[in-house]
Amino acid sequence: MGLKVAKFGGSSVADGIQMTKTKQIIEADKERKYVVVSAPGKRYDGDNKITDLLYLCKTHIDHNLPYEQVFQVICDRFMAIKINLGLKVDLQKEFEVMKQNLENGASADYIASRGEYLSALIIAEFLGYTFIDTAGLIVFDAKGRFLEDETNKKLGEELKKHERAVLPGFYGSSPDGTIKTFSRGGSDITGAIVSRAANANVYENWTDVSGFLMADPRIVNNPKPIESLSYKELRELSYMGASVLHEDAIYPARVANIPINIRNTNQPEDPGTMITAKEIIHENQIITGIAGSKGFTVICIYKNNMNSERGILRRVLGILDDYGIMVHHLPSGIDTVSVVISSESVNGRLTELVQDLTNNLKPDSIDVHENMSLIATVGCGMASRRGVSAKLFTALAGADVNVRMIDQGSSEMNIIVGIENKDFEASIRAIYEAFVT
Ligand code: ADP
Ligand code: ASP
Ligand code: MG
Repeated sequence: MGLKVAKFGGSSVADGIQMTKTKQIIEADKERKYVVVSAPGKRYDGDNKITDLLYLCKTHIDHNLPYEQVFQVICDRFMAIKINLGLKVDLQKEFEVMKQNLENGASADYIASRGEYLSALIIAEFLGYTFIDTAGLIVFDAKGRFLEDETNKKLGEELKKHERAVLPGFYGSSPDGTIKTFSRGGSDITGAIVSRAANANVYENWTDVSGFLMADPRIVNNPKPIESLSYKELRELSYMGASVLHEDAIYPARVANIPINIRNTNQPEDPGTMITAKEIIHENQIITGIAGSKGFTVICIYKNNMNSERGILRRVLGILDDYGIMVHHLPSGIDTVSVVISSESVNGRLTELVQDLTNNLKPDSIDVHENMSLIATVGCGMASRRGVSAKLFTALAGADVNVRMIDQGSSEMNIIVGIENKDFEASIRAIYEAFVT
């Protein structure tokens, strides 16, 4: 018999009704032996995610504000699920422990992780599966770096002891036992780590859309689903902002060659998207998908004969490193180099940063563009086709969008354009219309 790991996101476990759908999906296939769950997410537009409320408790405490009301909202949601599903789990005891830890200065990571922890306790009882806590099994070093080999070994050994189990997503622990979370959306990563440790045949990622769509459905009306996709294309799309799957969830699945299947809990009959190592070039589809994000700053540095000045790039990167700023892209020309960084990471230090670059590099000029967005048009079939860029730029010109930056990855499966934030949605729609028929 094969073995599937099924991860259910926040909307799939948002309340008793969604958890019942989740249970039906798991029971419909005996190969779904290990289940990873998120904390309850939004039940409707405008609702709160449990994780956001948990972080809010911590913020209140840090500011010496009463947190009890927010905490009660969290408890009420979990209690309602327990009652709705007729379960016995002693939530009151869990809430007491949480409250005590909160008041004793527990970290934001610990508090945020309790959403997944309680969700997994509840679903384990609901399914009659063993609950396995990921603290102590998914491990980080003292600096907070994820330890993949140690985790794979520990988790693999533990899973072997249990035929069927439910595990909380999003967190693990440090050597001293303190809880450490991944970044937001990190339950996807846990799902991939568990798939690898369990040697699964497939990693199913159950969410609220019928797979990866060619563009964000909140921007493009009814975008086409992507039937199949390669790990490489997926990585480009998720890195650039397609938030369906956390970008760090790809690596553990890819090294173990485990296909990822994105599925819809509300429409389980849909096949969803299958992601494997295979790069498929579709005859009638030039691109695979479009993704992007807002909130970048682009610093363009011009200097005559830059191409022959040794070490200049290293100096640019060194300065940014001193500021703790990560470089997302680095398009360059003969006498120019641009650095694309997230505006958040600049954190009010732009003038200082530009001054440092000027003093150190002695450029002819430096231009700064704030409020920029990046959009990636991705597809492994793009390299072998002519006229892709022409089509892309014609579409953007037709939408009256001013392209400020262009970067084409050396793999030629990706063209990235930098545009102003205000043009973001219109640009995605224009590219979609030009390429998707
Ligand atoms: P979960 O809580 O199940 O992890 P997420 O909210 O993290 O779900 O991810 C699913 C959401 O991702 C969808 O509801 C959709 O709004 C958004 N999304 C953004 N880009 C895409 C895309 N290209 N294809 C599908 N969904 C996308
Ligand atoms: N609950 C966490 C979050 O909201 C992790 C996840 O859902 O993947 O970010
Ligand atoms: Mg998610």
